[in-house]
Amino acid sequence: MALVPPHGGKGLVCCLLQGAELAAEQKKAEGLKKIDISPRAKGDLIMMGIGGFSPLNGFMSKADWKSVCENFTLADDTFWPVPVTLDMDEEVKVGEEIALFDPKKGVYMATMKVTEVYEMTEADKKWECEKVYKGQGEESADDKFWEIAPKDHPGVQMVMAQKKYNVAGPVKVLSEGDYRDRFPGCYMTPAEARKTFEEKGWSKVAALQLRNPMHRSHEFLAKIAVEVCDGVFIHSLVGNLKPGDIPAEVRIKCIDTLIDKYFVKANVVQGGYPLDMRYAGPREGLLHATFRQNYGVSDMLIGRDHAGVGDFYGLFEAQEIFDRIPKNLGAGKDLVTQPMKIDWTFYCYKCDGMASLRTCPHGKEDRVVLSGTKLRKALSEGAPVADHFGRDEVLDILREYYSSLTEKVEIKMQSHAAATKM
Ligand SMILES: [Zn+2]
Repeated sequence: MALVPPHGGKGLVCCLLQGAELAAEQKKAEGLKKIDISPRAKGDLIMMGIGGFSPLNGFMSKADWKSVCENFTLADDTFWPVPVTLDMDEEVKVGEEIALFDPKKGVYMATMKVTEVYEMTEADKKWECEKVYKGQGEESADDKFWEIAPKDHPGVQMVMAQKKYNVAGPVKVLSEGDYRDRFPGCYMTPAEARKTFEEKGWSKVAALQLRNPMHRSHEFLAKIAVEVCDGVFIHSLVGNLKPGDIPAEVRIKCIDTLIDKYFVKANVVQGGYPLDMRYAGPREGLLHATFRQNYGVSDMLIGRDHAGVGDFYGLFEAQEIFDRIPKNLGAGKDLVTQPMKIDWTFYCYKCDGMASLRTCPHGKEDRVVLSGTKLRKALSEGAPVADHFGRDEVLDILREYYSSLTEKVEIKMQSHAAATKM
């Protein structure tokens, strides 16, 4: 048995140059028109560089953008769930080569051959938001969405703040950023992850997506996956999050500790991936599965409120969307990685252990309902944390982090997290 193939039927499409070719292209970049890019675009470029976004080899054309929003496919019918576009103020010319520059770090990230420039009007951006970011939760209800989203939905804010033009074309990536230095042994390319899994003899690999500290529910999900797959890949976002979220360094230390104390190490691999959160809710869940296929993952764990934002989405919408995506698109074009759907999980005193709504017959008064948001709120306020909410070793690391903060962090509670509607 082999690992799942990379998405798109073209193998791993890696746009990162190496060796002499890289040195020559870096020199060339210095002579090209320099365009500053956003942190989101930087993450996208690194993913294209390392094959994480296979089969994409550049930013999307208008036809691809439109088809992705409308049909969940690129213009050639290959499945793809979210737009990967590059916005710019300055109108560049078709045929021109430009250099994409990270102004924060002062690094040339890529060169790009412009194949298309298309204007994004306010109406186009709104259309993209409605197609991609609007969900079935109460805050997405028709009259409410445009009232609430511009203030409270970071994904919508990002799209609406985009510049006047989208520029499409293939890229040559010049840098992986500093992730390899910042997260040694954890940051991994798809090829490196595949090699690790192959050396372990794994073919059925589950992934747990994390952007919050790993608490008991995550541990339970990962362990369910270990029981039915060859192993689990605990894969954290190491790109940017919103203010108030816990930095990747702290989250990774928590996972290291958990693996050390509570897992059979042979059955777990920890990794980090270089993207920022897009805050695209259920569509982002699909993106998580799509790029995980490139990492060799066959089963994507999707629990309650996966990639949720406020109350814009239903609690299980990220599971349901997998049933609505187009299928039988042709050789290599379908999403092969499947969702592993897990119901609401919690610690139950009567069951005397972790359980889910599918296994526990008891009432909500017997359950400790776990949510990352609730945990962060308690820790940031120095409040006690309910028993069985997280492992003591993890809570100690988090308490240490919060006590090191000089500014108090305000945690906005979602009504999902605040309520115990079970
Ligand atoms: Zn129970």
